[in-house]
Amino acid sequence: MRIPPNTRLGGCSCGSVRFALIGPPQKVGLCHCTTCRKETGSVAMAYAVWDTAAFTTGGETRTWEGRDFCPRCGTRLYALRPEEHEVEVKLGALDGGPCGLVPTEELWIKRREAWMTPIEGAAQYPEDPPNA
Ligand SMILES: [Zn+2]
Ligand SMILES: [Zn+2]
Repeated sequence: MRIPPNTRLGGCSCGSVRFALIGPPQKVGLCHCTTCRKETGSVAMAYAVWDTAAFTTGGETRTWEGRDFCPRCGTRLYALRPEEHEVEVKLGALDGGPCGLVPTEELWIKRREAWMTPIEGAAQYPEDPPNA
């Protein structure tokens, strides 16, 4: 398979699931909501959104509330929203790091841990953004 230079690769810890994204994301954000906290097992979830046309994936996933994870190793991967033509990818599922993507929006900041500071230049929303 020929991989274009502007492609980002990602996958789960065990390697059963691999995916690729072509080009820059439409949106990058950080969410502090309780669902994201529980689902990731962390205190916030960093994500980026691409058009589904830029996304290819291989390997078996399972889904909880529209969020895909690897059934073998449990890695949280992405949320596919075909009706909106978008895929929201968890930045930690991208290979290597840092990925260089900087959030431009921060959601549910009322649940942000006191030791985390607001991301400079990122829009701050107490809960979901009004247009969501
Ligand atoms: Zn896995
Ligand atoms: Zn959230």
